[in-house]
Amino acid sequence: YSGFVAIVGRPNVGKSTLLNRILGQKVSITSRKPQTTRHRILGIDTEENRQTVYVDTPGLHIDEKRAINRLMNRAASSSLKDIDVDAVVFVVDGTRWTEDDDMVLNKLRDIKCPIYLAVNKTDAIKDKAEELMPHLQVLAEKFNFAEIIPISATKGTNVEMLRGICSKQL
Ligand code: GDP
Ligand code: MG
Repeated sequence: YSGFVAIVGRPNVGKSTLLNRILGQKVSITSRKPQTTRHRILGIDTEENRQTVYVDTPGLHIDEKRAINRLMNRAASSSLKDIDVDAVVFVVDGTRWTEDDDMVLNKLRDIKCPIYLAVNKTDAIKDKAEELMPHLQVLAEKFNFAEIIPISATKGTNVEMLRGICSKQL
């Protein structure tokens, strides 16, 4: 069996770090700079009876430098309901919410497959938790997330659990 999982989120939330940790090897680029990931990157997690293919969905690519891209991204958002994946992992930075998070969220609106909300950088949240909680509450109310999973991609917290969830998508 093969499952396709899209890892989505604005730049710098830790998507590449998460993918690298799931796959245990350097397959995509992590950087302090946003927008290092310019192309769709596939990572394949091969288990005995099953493969999980991770996709860095280009339709959710946000170029912060160019406002025109924002508009195009917005215009393209309606087509994302047709993206052919079995699950989406929506990664957010637990220490910082921006309007780009809202933009990504808007694009997820019509997607039919299960969406898992991965709240990353929990190792760094500490006193910033209060800042994020109202957003998460709004998210939880508006969206029917399949699950909300607090993670730390750098420390590995809950990453195996998330990987297990992803690999169970057919
Ligand atoms: P991407 O743009 O979403 O792919 O984000 P990256 O994986 O390139 O990570 C962006 C920055 O966030 C890098 O400096 C990472 O080291 C950092 N980062 C990623 N995950 C975590 C985490 O769990 N905790 C902390 N403190 N930093 C993280
Ligand atoms: Mg990246």
